[in-house]
Amino acid sequence: SRREGFSSIPNVNWEDVGGLKSLRREFDRYIVQRIKHPEEYEEFGVNLEAGFLLFGPPGCGKTLIAKAVANEAGASFIHIKGPELLNKYVGESELAVRMIFSRARTCSPCILFFDEVDALTTKRGKDGGWVVERLLNQLLIELDGADQRQGVYVIGATNRLEVMDPAVLRPGRFGKVLYVPLPCADERGLILKALSRKKPISADVDLDALAHREACKNLTGADLAALMNEAAMAALEEKQNSMDQGTVSNDPWDIKISHFEKALQKI
Ligand code: ATP
Repeated sequence: SRREGFSSIPNVNWEDVGGLKSLRREFDRYIVQRIKHPEEYEEFGVNLEAGFLLFGPPGCGKTLIAKAVANEAGASFIHIKGPELLNKYVGESELAVRMIFSRARTCSPCILFFDEVDALTTKRGKDGGWVVERLLNQLLIELDGADQRQGVYVIGATNRLEVMDPAVLRPGRFGKVLYVPLPCADERGLILKALSRKKPISADVDLDALAHREACKNLTGADLAALMNEAAMAALEEKQNSMDQGTVSNDPWDIKISHFEKALQKI
């Protein structure tokens, strides 16, 4: 059920997301609670945006948070990659857009996630040509059909806000624009902690101190995931080598600061 374009409930939750606290709060109010307690929103006549655009540098958690939102809301998740939608259905991409929204309605409540959405929403009359233009128009028609969109929340993600047609950022479309920044040192610490949740980390490893090191400056969430993975790999290899050589050790086989040092060399 992990196939692109089909719905599934992601196995990522809030705890897997490090930092990004204010974003989580926004999504909780705008999507999760709305899906869980629709009657309250109705009672108070609250009308909120259902279209969101996440922008910011690659690898900082846009996809991750969209998945966590779906999981926390118990909603299905449909992942569409902008460029693939363009290339896979040449000449039929308008139909594909209609089908995608129709599928999303069928499995609502649903988070419809458009990754690299800029590929579909480049300023008209620029480099996209007529295929993009027609596709964009179809996308706008679907987004504007808000009344039939019940239970379908659209989240777009892009690294290039500046190339997007401003028409798509109007209220009712991708009306709420949210920035997903490069993590600061404290946030890097939170990300490392989130990434370490299911890993055997030695008790004396201070992930927060690690995150504050000069060597970790400017690392994205994706870089930190790679760092964590390299450290785990180094620890595993050490264990395997020792086993092969029949070495006896009283130390537990876990991920130590030395493994992070090694991993830092590679990143
Ligand atoms: P892109 O623009 O390249 O699609 P993105 O912003 O969508 O990037 P993600 O795909 O969400 O980035 O992040 C890639 C990986 O990096 C995640 O699967 C996760 O392992 C790690 N990661 C990124 N940000 C975080 C975070 N805030 N907390 C925990 N892990 C993170």
